[in-house]
Amino acid sequence: MAAKFVYFFGGGKAEGNATMKNLLGGKGANLAEMANLGVPVPPGFTITTEVCTHYYANHRKYPSGLKEKVAEAIKKVEKIMGKKFGDSADPLLMSVRSGARSSMPGMMETVLNVGLTSKTIPGLIKKTGNERFVYDAYRRLIMMYSDVVMEKAAGVEPKDDEGIRRQLDRIMENVKREKGLKLDTELSATDLKNLCEVFKSRVKEVLGKDFPDDPNEQLWGGIHAVFASWNGKRAVSYRRIEGIPDEWGTAVNVQAMVFGNMGEKSATGVAFTRNPGNGENRFYGEYLVNAQGEDVVAGIRTPAPVNEDSKSEHNRELVSLEKAMPKIYKELFAIQRKLEKHYHDMQDIEFTIENGRLWMLQCRVGKRNGPAAVKMAMDMLKEKLITSKDAVKRVTPAQLDELLHPIIDPAAEKNSKPLAKGLPAGPGGAVGQIVFSAQAAVEWAKAGKKVILCREETNPEDVEGMRAAQGVLTARGGMTSHAALVARGWGKCCIVGCGAIDVHYSAKEMHVDGKVLREGDWLTLNGTKGLVYEGQLPTLDAAEENKLLSGFLKVCDSLRKLGVRTNADTPEDATKARQLGAEGIGLFRTEHMFYGKGSDEPLFLLRKMIVSKNADERKKAIDGLYTYVKRDIKGTLAAMDNLPVVIRLLDPPLHEFVPRDREKLQALASDLNISMDELAKRSEALHESNPMMGHRGVRLGVTYPEVSTMQIMAIFEAAAELIKEGKKPYPEIMIPVVCDVKELRNQLNLARDIYKQVLAKTGVKKIRHKLGTMIEIPRAALVANEIAEEAEFFSFGTNDLTQMSFGFSRDDIGGFLPDYLSKGILPGDPFQSIDQKGVGELIGIGIERGRKTRKDLEVGICGEHGGEPESVAFCHRVGMDYVSCSPFRVPIARLAAAQVVVAEMAASKKKK
Ligand code: PEP
Ligand code: MG
Repeated sequence: MAAKFVYFFGGGKAEGNATMKNLLGGKGANLAEMANLGVPVPPGFTITTEVCTHYYANHRKYPSGLKEKVAEAIKKVEKIMGKKFGDSADPLLMSVRSGARSSMPGMMETVLNVGLTSKTIPGLIKKTGNERFVYDAYRRLIMMYSDVVMEKAAGVEPKDDEGIRRQLDRIMENVKREKGLKLDTELSATDLKNLCEVFKSRVKEVLGKDFPDDPNEQLWGGIHAVFASWNGKRAVSYRRIEGIPDEWGTAVNVQAMVFGNMGEKSATGVAFTRNPGNGENRFYGEYLVNAQGEDVVAGIRTPAPVNEDSKSEHNRELVSLEKAMPKIYKELFAIQRKLEKHYHDMQDIEFTIENGRLWMLQCRVGKRNGPAAVKMAMDMLKEKLITSKDAVKRVTPAQLDELLHPIIDPAAEKNSKPLAKGLPAGPGGAVGQIVFSAQAAVEWAKAGKKVILCREETNPEDVEGMRAAQGVLTARGGMTSHAALVARGWGKCCIVGCGAIDVHYSAKEMHVDGKVLREGDWLTLNGTKGLVYEGQLPTLDAAEENKLLSGFLKVCDSLRKLGVRTNADTPEDATKARQLGAEGIGLFRTEHMFYGKGSDEPLFLLRKMIVSKNADERKKAIDGLYTYVKRDIKGTLAAMDNLPVVIRLLDPPLHEFVPRDREKLQALASDLNISMDELAKRSEALHESNPMMGHRGVRLGVTYPEVSTMQIMAIFEAAAELIKEGKKPYPEIMIPVVCDVKELRNQLNLARDIYKQVLAKTGVKKIRHKLGTMIEIPRAALVANEIAEEAEFFSFGTNDLTQMSFGFSRDDIGGFLPDYLSKGILPGDPFQSIDQKGVGELIGIGIERGRKTRKDLEVGICGEHGGEPESVAFCHRVGMDYVSCSPFRVPIARLAAAQVVVAEMAASKKKK
């Protein structure tokens, strides 16, 4: 490790700076930077993260020489402050705070007022002339120190609600109640002095040790507790969620105390250089007179606004800092401007006013919600505070998503306990009354009610109900299960694979965690996180038409190289996607015209086709179907005029379409003029053990060429008609589930023949088009060089490619995925984010071999991964031409595609 483990700051200079976050932690690096900038920062020093790593690597021992370095640094602080640590006449007090590389709010420990002892207390009282203040500081020290150092860091695990901090809190509450007081500030010096004695004896009683009365023992206890808190339960689980490596460690910041609780000329506050809630370029913050930092966060008293712009319903009546202390406010205002200008980003700052003097305790990049992130990025770009590359980095895909869907009010969610958790399949929030059937969903919605459709799982027959519902909840299924796919396509809130719910259709109820929920009960879903809540939680509306958002996305477009298309199956979806910036359709699933509104007639004909026994019967059904297929394709080609539209020939296993309800079966039998027994026999014959690996995709076209013929004919004729109407259709015909070039050749030869026939028949000279295939079977990726002899384009179907690479059923992964995740076997759901190691390798091989045969091979992705930011970045790196995703994820893909370019630029600059 580096020889230097203590970095000093204060008195207008520092040994560290903002670039040293890895070594000094975020807080330490920024304190140093502020000191260098001449901002008033209480002097102090940072013990590096390397000391933390050393501490854990060496059985919790500090590197030799650390004690001496700390002692030297304290001397420097003493010099600047003109006071001595542990001095009986004019004691210096210290704070000890954690600070990791990236902020882990509230996850680690802090001890304030270190250095108060029986020897220093009288001196401080004399010096400040404020006995009340001193005992208030002392009781805070006892509360914090006993909790953080003597209990948590010592590994004591009290029962719920029996921790020392809770016990001391209760003692204080009792004193206040007995005296009829409401606020902590109403406690007198004597009250507090007595309280400190009671606290100390309770600490001894509960923890078996005296409260330390030596300043150095307190200081090292605090330092030890901060390092120990790096491995505390809260910090460890936060790191798991945020993906922060254990090796990083935390730094410790020891700093001279300044006091916001010295009386009416003292205060403490938290502020943001711009409003983090809406992004407005207005200084925004809160403060409390006569208080220490923790009081603002703890919400014991309502903080007052720093200025007019920070007033809300809750604090409107309180006096702003601007009014109460105008000079200090002016100084604070100038500092926050300076900091934002220096850091080129919105800062979250903490300040303390001690007896009319302003001190800055912290600054860091401020957290913000989605709308605020976009507004700030665009404003700062306009103000020339940042470049377009910076702007693109300033909004995360999750923040962008917030602008596209209504969300559950985060404040309400914070105060509610989820009932169950499932997979977050469709983002946003939904509130509605429970229904258990698609039919009920449709009927209730018609009656003006908001419903949540709860099912064991969904199948194509539920589509209308899904459409009518606010949100969908299923007990089974994975991220690419039917419900998930459909919901995402519509931008609908959806949670799948929620194993904790047990649906009883006949009783119209479901059991969750010992509770029974019935039809009509209210439920709230957070589809972004997969959380289910009982009752109605308030939602926040997403911005519909958002100029700022489209401006921001244009900035993204100016940087990205990857094209962004959409998966859309109807003219409406295509139009929506185009509005959201789609540059074409990467997947039009023909079969989707048999679901949902207006599908009765075509679905009936499709069913007829499926259960036909001979070519003659089949031909009749197909002829009937032709009109519908052509109508939908034509509408979509028109909506995407002049942009490419990849139309995939019929793919799913046919038995999925066989009706289940008796009435529909009867209608089918009578139309075909066969008995119900005969129909049952024919349906039975369609049954397959592994339908996903059965008679689907190209295999249908090989065995029933007339089915492919009808579709290809519909595509070319629709295009020819559009050309005659003055439009510029651009279909790309795609054959699914191909594993060998010969099956592809078989189908594409058919297409080439039909193309000629359509030209001859319509008199149109040329229809711009491409013929290609999906790569969704591992073998296809491996023989891509041969497949590219026929295919002019590849589209990676990563849903099936993932399914077949892992051998995990995409519909049933919910059964074991939670265990795989909690046991660390998989880092995440491979149906959500591409498994770059395995599936990604196949994609890389497929592209490389394909392009060896055909240099200008167009390559895209149309699996659900096409809208997931990390997968988008992967697609860029592996050299794809475009990604395709559901309409509502198009903006996210545009952002992710720009972010990967910016990251690459930064990396190559670093190399140089
Ligand atoms: C795929 O497999 O990735 C794909 C897009 O097709 P589908 O989801 O319709 O099987
Ligand atoms: Mg597929």
